[in-house]
Order: sequence, then structure tokens, then C-alpha cells
Amino acid sequence: MQNDAFISIQNVNKYFGKFHAINDVSIDIKHGEFFSLLGSSGCGKTTLLRMLAGFESPTSGEIYIDGQPMSGVPPHHRPVNMVFQNYAIFPHLNVRDNIAYGLRKQKLPRAQRDALVDEMLDLIKLPDYGDRKANQLSGGQRQRIALARSLILRPKVLLLDEPLGALDKQLREQMQLELRALQKTVGITFVFVTHDQEEALTLSDRMAVMSNGRDLQVDTPTRLYESPINREVASFIGTMNFFDGTVKALTNGGAEIETVGLGNVYTTNIPPSLTPGQSVCAAIRPEKLSLSRESQSGFNQAKGRLDNAAYLGERSHYYVSIEGVSKPVAVSVQNRQRANGNGENQCPVWLCWDDNAFVVLENG
Ligand code: ATP
Repeated sequence: MQNDAFISIQNVNKYFGKFHAINDVSIDIKHGEFFSLLGSSGCGKTTLLRMLAGFESPTSGEIYIDGQPMSGVPPHHRPVNMVFQNYAIFPHLNVRDNIAYGLRKQKLPRAQRDALVDEMLDLIKLPDYGDRKANQLSGGQRQRIALARSLILRPKVLLLDEPLGALDKQLREQMQLELRALQKTVGITFVFVTHDQEEALTLSDRMAVMSNGRDLQVDTPTRLYESPINREVASFIGTMNFFDGTVKALTNGGAEIETVGLGNVYTTNIPPSLTPGQSVCAAIRPEKLSLSRESQSGFNQAKGRLDNAAYLGERSHYYVSIEGVSKPVAVSVQNRQRANGNGENQCPVWLCWDDNAFVVLENG
């Protein structure tokens, strides 16, 4: 276990019968981190969360929370609480009673209990809603009550399973900002499950990208976006253009890659173990490419043909065919630097990029 790991998931496997749902996952989560598990449906996010909560046991491996091994520890003895997508609040109780629900076993004096509820109502920015019935609230308000109900018990870890999944897009985005601010205020470790990559990028200090029960990469949102370790992670987060290539030379801490379609590209964004002659993939995000009608210089450019353009208000997306490259190259340009209108397809254009705009991914 790393010294600063508050939650340590070590070589955890989970089988449901013969089905290998969690495949040798090891993740360390720091105290006070907003940590997300991101992956498509069925990749094992909820199963991992349920193992942290104690609702499922690992088939092998161990989970430590706050230095303690969790095997054999039942859910109610773990320092965790869980918030579900369908915020389980009681419609017939008012907001105060819903928030205080988990405290009922603690037999606190009424004044102390009321003070804790008031603190929570302030925290979730609903100070005047205490007497409302839960069924008189909006979806976002109900979700905040569910959070308050979990937080009032002061868990060391809050586990959140797609808690914003039932909200519409606008409310969801607002709640994302509120949730992040709330987590920073209370300082509790949050483990958050989502299949929405934008949500994970917005909220997380660090996150794990999962696929088929495995953790593919654990890192900060910036590093996952800028330096994905393989094609699977690169295509799961955002859009990426891929070009087959070969390592021509290693120079100045970077690599020169001879690509199919773009000629030579140089970047320092490379894995440490590259060797000359190795077959690799050079990848670049659409917004790191720009378009020009004329050749700019001898370097960092390639000639293509504009296939398609889509005007999206703030940005425009272009698709450019390059000889020898099977898929059109996606380019995303802010509209103040627009190169072409929607109707100017099939014209010749130059694709341009800066040094270090590419990331090199190892094949296999
Ligand atoms: P979603 O985003 O759809 O909730 P997920 O990533 O959370 O997906 P899990 O719910 O963890 O995925 O499920 C992972 C895999 O394990 C799925 O194929 C699922 O069918 C299977 N699975 C989960 N629970 C059980 C169970 N109790 N018995 C058998 N198979 C299960």
C-alpha cells in the first residue's frame, strides 16, 4: 500500500459463477480525493463500489480502508456511506426528518440533532426547506437531500453510484459544480461511479478508466486526456485521430515517428520504453490540429481534402481526407479562427500542428 493511500484496492478479482467481473484491479485512493470510476456499461464500476461498501466480497485480493483490511467487515461496520442514483428518500417525511433519518439510532438530544440538520441544510443550500415534504421537491433538490442524509453521519468515505444520472443535462451540470464544491468543503473522500466522461473529467481529482473488469489507467483528468497510455483509453475519453507509424529516431527526450499519411512527426509525449524501428500509433486530438488554405512551412503539416464541415456555434468540426489514411481526420476549430464555411467541401486544405501535439501510443 502507498503511504498516502486511504483506500487501497489490491489485486481484487470478482467472479459471478464463471464470469470474471473484476479482473485483478489495484487502485490506491488518497484521503480527501474526489475519485471517479469511469467506464462503459457492464465494465464493473458498480461491482467495485459495492465491494468497497461491503455488499459484495472479492473472490480474491484485499481492500483496505483507513489502514484496516475490510474482508469480513459487514457494511454497517465500514466507515463508508453510499448514495444511489434513485436517491432513496422517503416521500412522506419532511426534509428535516429525511436528513436526520440515519441519526435515529444514535439517540442524540433533540437540540443537537436539530443543529446537525441545520448545518446540513446550509451546506446543501436549502436552509428554508426543512418543513417541505420530500415529494414537493425537484429532482436536484431531492438529490441534495440524499447527499445531506449520507453526510450527516460523517462517513470517512462517500460512495456515489451515478447519483446525477436521473437529472436532465442542465441540472446535471449545475449539480456537478455543487457536488465538487461540497466535497471540497466537507473534505470527505468521494468515490464516484459514472459512464459519462465529461462528468468524470469535470469532477475528479483523479479517476480510473475501466473496461471489461480491468483498470486501464489511473490518473488525473489532464493526464488521462493529454497522455492516455493506449488506444482504448485514448478513444474512450474524447475524440482522437490515430496514425500508424514507426519510430524513426529517439532524440532530445522525444521521438520522431514516420507516419502513414502525415510524414514525420516529432513529440516528447512518448512512453518511456520506445525503441527505434518499433511499430506505434501517433495520436492527436482534433483541437490540436488547425486548417490552412496554403502551405505554411516545411514542417508539421500535411495536405488533404476537406470532406465535411459542421458549424456548432462556438466551434466548427471539419473532416479531412488524407491520402493513405482510411478514416477522415477530425479537426475542431474555434470559430474566431475559422478556415472555411460549411459549404466549401472538397477543397484542398493543409492540416497543421504544433511540436509535441502528438502523443505516441504503443501497439498491443
Ligand atoms: P452500469 O454502468 O450498466 O451499471 P457497471 O460498470 O456498473 O455497469 P456492474 O454492474 O459492475 O457494471 O456489472 C459488471 C458485470 O458483472 C456485468 O456484466 C453484470 O451483468 C455482471 N454482474 C453484476 N452483478 C452480478 C451478479 N450479482 N450476478 C451475476 N453477474 C453480475
